Amino acid sequence: MLDKRRFYINGEWVAPLQANDLEVINPATEQPIAVISMGTAADIDRAVAAAKKAYQTYSRTSAEERLALLERLLAIYKRRYDEVARTITLELGAPITMSMQQQADVGVGHLQGFIDALKNLHIREELPNGDILVREPIGVCGLITPWNWPINQIALKVIPALATGSTCVLKPSEFTPLNAMLYAEMVDEAGFPAGTFNLVNGDGVTAGAALSKHKDVDMMSFTGSTRAGIAVSKDAADTVKRVTLELGGKSPNIVFEDADLEDRVAGSVLECFNNSGQSCDAPTRMLIQRSVYDKAVRIAGAAGREARVGNPEDEGDHIGPLVSHIQYGRVQNLIEAGIAEGARVLVGGAGKPEGYETGYFVQPTIFADVRNDMRIAKEEVFGPVLSLIPFDTEEEAIAIANDTPYGLAAYVQTGDAERAERVASRLKAGMVHINGGPHRYGSPFGGYKQSGNGREGGKFGLEDFLEVKTIHRP
Ligand code: NAD
Repeated sequence: MLDKRRFYINGEWVAPLQANDLEVINPATEQPIAVISMGTAADIDRAVAAAKKAYQTYSRTSAEERLALLERLLAIYKRRYDEVARTITLELGAPITMSMQQQADVGVGHLQGFIDALKNLHIREELPNGDILVREPIGVCGLITPWNWPINQIALKVIPALATGSTCVLKPSEFTPLNAMLYAEMVDEAGFPAGTFNLVNGDGVTAGAALSKHKDVDMMSFTGSTRAGIAVSKDAADTVKRVTLELGGKSPNIVFEDADLEDRVAGSVLECFNNSGQSCDAPTRMLIQRSVYDKAVRIAGAAGREARVGNPEDEGDHIGPLVSHIQYGRVQNLIEAGIAEGARVLVGGAGKPEGYETGYFVQPTIFADVRNDMRIAKEEVFGPVLSLIPFDTEEEAIAIANDTPYGLAAYVQTGDAERAERVASRLKAGMVHINGGPHRYGSPFGGYKQSGNGREGGKFGLEDFLEVKTIHRP
């Protein structure tokens, strides 16, 4: 078993101030693979002090100096790419092909997106009224990340902090800490000055809350559940920090009768099941126009039955287990709620898939005839569970789509380009995908309503980490 008990503080791997071990579990085997330490408020203090000191000089570096560091980090990341993918497979259970093609790839894509954005960022501007506007690094940033797309979230927070001249303390998810520690090794090798990047492992209520409350932390950037995002906001309120949040979603996917049904319904099922359904922007509510409902249900059923679970170590396009025992229990509970509320099980259902008694595997599940007031349509399941909901008119589809406290992504399938944009303009969502259009690196990611605030990635992602100063001249 790997011994990963140390934290990365002030450019060194240091022992925690107080021993408190946690085993990291491989979700496919339920066996421990590593032991980490759970940090306390005192460990967070130490990391924040290092970040605060480093900010004094790092904030004065030029964009060129920081670009050189980021280019070095990119080269190191590319060299260790396979290791990143294998680590994510081991601790998250993402199948290796998916880890190689998607989970690890985001580390390259986002870094490149930020490098391009930094090259085009105007730090100093003269306004038409004669004033000067300067963008400055905000200060010490507390970064809290989840387990579902671990490198994605780390890259979307650590890189903009370091790119803009801020310093940071990262507290990654206690379920997937190993890839974060690998990232720390890469930041170290790239030569970022001591204290600019620090990593403390731990849980949310102890280490996470200590970071959110800390008087010397200027900004919190959080991704995870809406519940924890609210806690971070409240903890940060007393010190009036900036807080950016990337939270949950219950994204609608509107399928109109003029869509390419074979392609888009089957494709949407796979998008929903990708990463075992553990994506905040997954298209989990498929709203289908009634005139093509039966046909679309047949296509979804066929695509759903073809989806396979499998061992994460094996190559292929199967899906892996859920991340943890807790997550397995939550997903089972919601599948059972769907059945109890009268939704029709089209594919899958409660319990483990045959032959997968060990590991947190669940059956890819599709419910038909779902109403938008059922729990499976309202709550974020965070498992491979899709709800099919019929609608009659465009107005009704928009109303159902927006009838959720979330507003992260939305999906529209139609052969009518004008309708696609008309509907997109009325959806309360931060991102709208039309006919399978993918999210691209460098474009902003984030949501409306209880899906959070702020935008991650590219130019907008850099701006979230900058303060604006106005200089008035006589
Ligand atoms: P979580 O929100 O509890 O954990 C995410 C991160 O927040 C972890 O690093 C955790 O340690 C930290 N955290 C937890 N409570 C905190 C607190 N009070 N203060 C500061 N930090 C805190 O998520 P989870 O329990 O792992 O998953 C629960 C649900 O969250 C999932 O079912 C899913 O709906 C949602 N989720 C969403 C995303 C997303 O990308 N939007 C990611 C993970 C989980």
